[in-house]
Amino acid sequence: MKYTGSCHCGNVKFEAEGAIESGLACNCSICQRKGSLLWFVPRANLRLLTPEDQTRSYLFNQHRIEHRFCPNCGIHPYAEAVAPDGTPTAAINLRCIDGIDLAAIPVHHYDGRAR
Ligand SMILES: [Zn+2]
Repeated sequence: MKYTGSCHCGNVKFEAEGAIESGLACNCSICQRKGSLLWFVPRANLRLLTPEDQTRSYLFNQHRIEHRFCPNCGIHPYAEAVAPDGTPTAAINLRCIDGIDLAAIPVHHYDGRAR
């Protein structure tokens, strides 16, 4: 299934393909603050509909994850990283996907703080 999503102001728009089976709520220092609900897909399944340079990246700690956000409205629609198996991966914030019923999606809690 193909989904569309965006930041709040529309400066960052994307489509993503895959099955949304669950969302991951992580308690690490940044996810806790963002309140994001993450859906992981291969980076190839995420297609930006707006120029990538309209996002900014926030990097911290080991700089392994690019936390993409909109510099205009401040929303964080996705992050990019390379999975342990070498696959470029996108962690899409389900809260930025259009027209889905978040309450119907099972949430898995992940202890990112302990990693
Ligand atoms: Zn925006």
